[in-house]
Amino acid sequence: PELVAQIAAGEVIERPASVVKELVENALDAGASRIEVETEGGGRSRIRVADDGCGIPAAEVALAFARHATSKISAPEDLFRIATLGFRGEALAAIAAVARVTCRTRAVGEELGTYVRIEGGEIREQRPLARPPGTEMIVEDLFFNTPARRKFLKGEGAERRAIDLWISRYALAYPRVAFFLRHDRREALTLPAAREPRHRLAALYGAEVAEALLEVHEADEEMRISGWISPPGMDRPDRQEMVFFVNGRWVQDRMLPAAVLQAYHTLLPAGRFPWSFLWIDLPPDAVDVNVHPAKIEVRFRDPDRVFRLVQRAAHRALRQTAP
Ligand code: ADP
Ligand code: MG
Repeated sequence: PELVAQIAAGEVIERPASVVKELVENALDAGASRIEVETEGGGRSRIRVADDGCGIPAAEVALAFARHATSKISAPEDLFRIATLGFRGEALAAIAAVARVTCRTRAVGEELGTYVRIEGGEIREQRPLARPPGTEMIVEDLFFNTPARRKFLKGEGAERRAIDLWISRYALAYPRVAFFLRHDRREALTLPAAREPRHRLAALYGAEVAEALLEVHEADEEMRISGWISPPGMDRPDRQEMVFFVNGRWVQDRMLPAAVLQAYHTLLPAGRFPWSFLWIDLPPDAVDVNVHPAKIEVRFRDPDRVFRLVQRAAHRALRQTAP
């Protein structure tokens, strides 16, 4: 069973950045207003994620680390209307299978919290603990029991950059949540809660970028698109800043950037790309996020409709700049 768990874990947890992603998603699902992330050694030695969310009830802590235990879905139909970032109940089990995990948590409304320590999937210690509501997860010695995985990890710098990218994406999508990121005790991102999404944009990319971007608003009967794209002339040599969120989830998809690019048509020199931060909200049953455990891909029920609306949204925003 331990081997099976380790193999399954490999699908969800490929690297330190995937641990950070899963823990931050859990914090966001828990309704946190403040999320602290700390790494050591690019996240291989230690990752700490602390939140002030709803916490885990004492009676559910052990279960939270069991495979396929999720508190977010209770009926099979729920799979077609996923509104939370997590839903598989795999992440904590996967992380615990390949690392040493310490969890301190207290559920809102409970008197006492819980301390639990898990190594390679085995609970080593569990006891009541006094602490404020919220959750702190510490993940140490990632892949300590799977040397082959450990060997194929990228360098610390590459891991830190991947973590920075994930946190920036989530920070952009959740401007009202404060994010603090430190690598080896050095500040990497300090993002107090922002009242306006544009303030978060400025905190991440600078005031100049935030000022220059064009606002996007578009909707049809079932879909809504909002966000920003860059005006002509503010292009980049790569697609790195073409960012899309579908129902609050950062996705990587070929169709969405293609739709934006088509709106620019002749406005972009060859080999240049715009900035685009676009939020696409549609009914949960119009999109399947259940494609890959890492959940970064999506499948739309009606991709043509999404394509057309994204293109129209970008086109309209660009037209506003025409003299
Ligand atoms: P999923 O997010 O898919 O439900 P996870 O393995 O990531 O699965 O988490 C399992 C369960 O543990 C969650 O459903 C949730 O109930 C609980 N949980 C995990 N992290 C937190 C957190 N930071 N705050 C509150 N509850 C949490
Ligand atoms: Mg989760």
